[in-house]
Amino acid sequence: MRYISTRGGCPPKTFEEVVLTGLAPDGGLFVPSAIPHFSREEIASWRSLSYQQLAFKVMRPYVGDCIPEDDLQTLIDRAYANFRHAAIAPLVQTGDNEWILELFHGPTLAFKDFALQFLGHLLDYSLQKRDQKVVIMGATSGDTGSAAIEGCRSCSNVEMFILHPHQRVSDVQRRQMTTVLADNIHNIALQGNFDDCQNMVKACFSDQSFLPDNRQLVAVNSINWARIMAQIVYYFWAALQLGGPQRAVSFAVPTGNFGDIFAGYLAAKMGLPIEQLVIATNQNDILHRCISANDHRTLPLQQSLAPSMDIMISSNFERLLFHAYRRDGDQIAALMAAAKQGHMRLSDAALAEVRQLFASHRCDDASMLAMIDGVYSDSGYLMDPHTAIGLDAARSCRANAITPMITLATAHPAKFPDAVRRAGYPEDPELPAHMADLFERAERFNVLDNDRAAVEHFMSQRIGAGS
Ligand SMILES: *Cc1c(COP(=O)(O)O)cnc(C)c1O
Repeated sequence: MRYISTRGGCPPKTFEEVVLTGLAPDGGLFVPSAIPHFSREEIASWRSLSYQQLAFKVMRPYVGDCIPEDDLQTLIDRAYANFRHAAIAPLVQTGDNEWILELFHGPTLAFKDFALQFLGHLLDYSLQKRDQKVVIMGATSGDTGSAAIEGCRSCSNVEMFILHPHQRVSDVQRRQMTTVLADNIHNIALQGNFDDCQNMVKACFSDQSFLPDNRQLVAVNSINWARIMAQIVYYFWAALQLGGPQRAVSFAVPTGNFGDIFAGYLAAKMGLPIEQLVIATNQNDILHRCISANDHRTLPLQQSLAPSMDIMISSNFERLLFHAYRRDGDQIAALMAAAKQGHMRLSDAALAEVRQLFASHRCDDASMLAMIDGVYSDSGYLMDPHTAIGLDAARSCRANAITPMITLATAHPAKFPDAVRRAGYPEDPELPAHMADLFERAERFNVLDNDRAAVEHFMSQRIGAGS
């Protein structure tokens, strides 16, 4: 399997090459040159596999001959060994033919562990084999940082720098990052907001001359192909539990950067019968406006109670448009230039293509709180704010009552105690046992000015000390 850029201007690369970098050199995102396809008979034959065995079947064609089969299965087994539910991704029923897929049983209580636990083991394996060291740099508004740190804390060939906006992430989110005291993990609290963090990371990726000679930066946000790939698995998993592939299923996905739901799109293209994919947004609703009214204007970002979805431009939407525009890299480059200026419009043909599978819905804070409260009152099931937005979208957009509708639960409610209390829950939801002492652990982080020279100086010093 080879990988090409969505903007068409870059020679094909191997799986390992795309995992060990960030954007393609032409500014696009890497996508597989062809999407593998499985017959219904083959998918049906996977029904009794464990999650880890299924992950192997789904990911194998994307990895190709980069990793021997036994090694790939070992990496997968290690990635899911720290999940605290035997089913890895259990389904819970919340209504008539209505299900929640719990993706928060990993080490940091958010779905990002599915990809980042795997990516950590994959990087460790590939870098040792290549005798190479890399520097991971990423910005986080909360969940990505902790999942990436947990995934890579034991990687001996990785130095990792995670920037979060100083005093603007929740205490639980900060402590999940800053209490990991491994020597290769460096938390930077930047004097600025999340956009400042992200711009700093982009600037450093665009000119890496501050790094020691033989080092390169690797991205761990959802532009990294390995993250998308690992997320395809649980769509197959959930469908197989509920009678797929003989029976189609639908999914509703709390969406920010469009990585999670794009994995669902790939599952459909790979042969899994999916009737609907529902994009759920909060009040930052650019994707909902785009799908429902071809209105992709950028508006000022609003802070919501579902902060992991507070995103204006969703990077991975480009990967979907690449397919909707029949893999025409020039058209994608032009569209993305328009999006950057704040006014992208899709062609009628592309929009029609997208609408064949996708629906969308916007859920503001008030409706989200009402959803948490309503479901808890009805059934005693407590959801986090992101999941509640997903369920609201599922109920609004559902095409029929016969097809099982599965909402992805992207985080554990204990990660967002403020929102859960505002919904009327009488106390802070309990953290799982492995995190119960989070507020007693020692923290380590450095507060830096929003200044590129200061950040680069800090990084080059730490890299020098570590090697
Ligand atoms: C990251 C995140 C999302 C958004 O996922 P994308 O892949 O960026 O669309 C939704 N919910 C939670 C809890 C998250 O951490």
